[in-house]
Amino acid sequence: MTPTSNLLIMVLMKLKQGISLAAAVVAAATALSSCTATPAATNKVTVTVAAYPLQFLTERIVGANGTVTNLTAPGTEPHDLELTAKQIADMSGTDAVVYIAGFQPAVDEAIGSTPPKLAIDVTQGLTMLKASQDGAAAEEGSNTEANDPHVWLSPSNMATMAKTIDAKLSAANPELASTFEANTNSLISELTALDSSYKTGLSSCSRTQFITSHAAFGYLAHDYGLTQVPISGLDPTEEPTAARIAEVQKLAKQYGVTTIFFETLVSDTVAKSIAGDLGLKAAVLDPIEGITTTSAGTNYLEVMQSNLNALKEANGCS
Ligand SMILES: [Zn+2]
Repeated sequence: MTPTSNLLIMVLMKLKQGISLAAAVVAAATALSSCTATPAATNKVTVTVAAYPLQFLTERIVGANGTVTNLTAPGTEPHDLELTAKQIADMSGTDAVVYIAGFQPAVDEAIGSTPPKLAIDVTQGLTMLKASQDGAAAEEGSNTEANDPHVWLSPSNMATMAKTIDAKLSAANPELASTFEANTNSLISELTALDSSYKTGLSSCSRTQFITSHAAFGYLAHDYGLTQVPISGLDPTEEPTAARIAEVQKLAKQYGVTTIFFETLVSDTVAKSIAGDLGLKAAVLDPIEGITTTSAGTNYLEVMQSNLNALKEANGCS
């Protein structure tokens, strides 16, 4: 029998068992491929990641030695992610889950209720910033304040996060440790170069304040001596109050900003209306919570470079 006819028979058997067609095809194909698996396949690690920046890091670190599944579908906003029962079951079946504690409540809950084989919280080893009331990050705020979860918008944080993922995956897969380490070192050199571009590019500017759609850029601002003025708070889906919009307009005039930044994954209506009211430009500053075809780049490094160009232009950097 040919593999195709094998597959067809297995699909028909699964369908008889009352399984849906799509599930039957997947189950049959999985069963068939496992019969013909090569020994190399045993070296593959399966990793679930909670959001795009973690997908970027993990894919670079595991390279061809693993498969990475992102819980947040491309083009969807990760903060208010909801997980299906199947996603939670699949997640606990993978070798590791990479997440940012305190970023996505659904992920924190799933890891608590259905502990995966290996949970890698990339905030370990990072200095977390607190979110002050207007959303701007300030170090060591009151204890009741939430941590700012947008750790990935600092290239130097990303290098630390890469080291954490590498260390945990290598400990669990010692036979792949040297490969993971080589991949991680090459990734870190690119992140270090990005950090240097930011330091150089933002060292001499007409102003340091920038107005953003939601408070995602606290770590970036902290690293490069800037001040973010967010229209919304840490959660991009929260509507800003009229008072907050008036305050942002006042600050925009006070600081002499040229540009109101908006994002790719959430509504740009408020940002564009503030820009219109004040006769300012509106431009994208991407919090890189997901990559889509409209992103200004195909990966984290490219979009961060585009963000740097946007900041330099908006802030009059030489
Ligand atoms: Zn965010």
